Amino acid sequence: MLEMNQYIGGAWVPSISGGRMTTQNPSTGETFASVPSSDARDVDAAVISARKAFPGWSALSQSERSKVMLRIAALIREHADEMAMMEVCEHGTPYGDAFGVCMGAADKFEWSANAAHRLTGSEIPVPGGTLSFVKYHPVGVISFIIPWNLPTIMTAVKLAPALSLGNTCVIKPPSVNSAIGLKFIEVISKAEGLPPGAVNIVTGAGGVVGAAMASHPEVDLVGFTGSSETGKAILAAAAPTVKKCVMELGGNNPVLVYADADIDACLKVLAWRQFNNSGQHCSGPGRYYVHERVYDEFIVKFKAYAESLKLGNPQDKSVQMGPMVSREHQNKVMGYIGSALEEGARLITGGSASDDGFFITPTILANCTHNMKAAREEIFGPVAVVIKFTDADDVIAAANDSRYGLCAHVWTRNIGAGMKLIDKLHVGAVFLNCQMLTNEQPWGTSIRESGIGKEGGIFGLAEFTDQKLVCVKYE
Ligand code: NAD
Repeated sequence: MLEMNQYIGGAWVPSISGGRMTTQNPSTGETFASVPSSDARDVDAAVISARKAFPGWSALSQSERSKVMLRIAALIREHADEMAMMEVCEHGTPYGDAFGVCMGAADKFEWSANAAHRLTGSEIPVPGGTLSFVKYHPVGVISFIIPWNLPTIMTAVKLAPALSLGNTCVIKPPSVNSAIGLKFIEVISKAEGLPPGAVNIVTGAGGVVGAAMASHPEVDLVGFTGSSETGKAILAAAAPTVKKCVMELGGNNPVLVYADADIDACLKVLAWRQFNNSGQHCSGPGRYYVHERVYDEFIVKFKAYAESLKLGNPQDKSVQMGPMVSREHQNKVMGYIGSALEEGARLITGGSASDDGFFITPTILANCTHNMKAAREEIFGPVAVVIKFTDADDVIAAANDSRYGLCAHVWTRNIGAGMKLIDKLHVGAVFLNCQMLTNEQPWGTSIRESGIGKEGGIFGLAEFTDQKLVCVKYE
């Protein structure tokens, strides 16, 4: 078992209470790591460290800070193998995917180092004798609360832009896979020029550590990715001190497969997305609406793909799909499969769970209806919910009928018809005949219960700044 401490003010320390908690290897159920179980006092120490580091870090020139970001990127690449093995053992990610995630995390620091130079103010036209412009300032101390589904990339996507712009940060890694976050910080903390206190990480229960990070009066912004329910608790905790909150929350993303869709191309993208990371993706397909003319072909080909996947312990490098992150989540996802079957769905393939390790076989449910629980809620697992449709207007209404609005996937060879849907779908992102998310693209939405604000790209970078208006009378 790994014994790890947390990083506060440039030192690796236990929790003040001395309490500890453990994480598991989801492929075996065995204990993987022991980490501090902290409370509000540890959060306070981390926030004070971040506050002390802020004036010095934010006063550096952008070029100086960007050089530190590039050193961080280099360190991540150098240690990508060790970091990937942590993902394999504590999250159940297949090695190839885990290694790719670590390289992607390095890219985020490199991208932010360069992109931060592009946030420049410009002159605003005002009546004569006066100069007005906007200056970008870092917001200050940021609390980042990370979800378990993609712990490395979710840490990088937040930390890289925030740090490069001069903010200082306190991170809470997800409770079930905290060691991944601790390893990440261990690697990047060695970057020459990163001052003690600029990055801190505190482990512990979400309702204790996360809640203290969301409410601490010295925190200026809360960056959160996770469920909409937890997001609401964080917004309430942040409200008394009116903190800015950037929230990437839940989704139940509709997929619209029209009669003229290229089914092979569609499944190449979406079937992979459905089962990669055991379906624990926020941007992945949530419910498939498939036109009746291509429904049978879709199901047959989807089944063949699902049954071709090699499921198992990702320490075997030939494995393509690992376990669910925890027993709790495995049970939750199995509950959705059970409820769909009770409501009349037909099991095409999969639907079984293992006792040793938290596996669920790749599952396809056909004959589903829009009002089934499994179609209405976010399953967040390797379970495809397939609904047949005939009427093009009805399907748009169904796609929009959700408490979420994160993204939608559309597949049709009629690009003009597909483009018309961009305005009709009430979501933050539309993927037409593809799915792609690069560092340059903004992600996230303020639609319904799927979040507030953006992450990634220049829009995401700007979230971690305050835009100060300056007006100077010179005549
Ligand atoms: P979660 O809400 O259970 O937990 C997220 C984080 O919040 C964890 O670190 C947890 O310990 C912490 N937390 C729990 N209770 C808290 C509280 N009261 N106060 C402060 N922090 C608290 O989410 P999860 O199960 O880790 O992740 C899955 C969810 O994340 C899904 O709903 C998924 O859609 C969402 N997600 C969204 C995006 C996006 O970009 N929109 C990306 C990834 C995941």
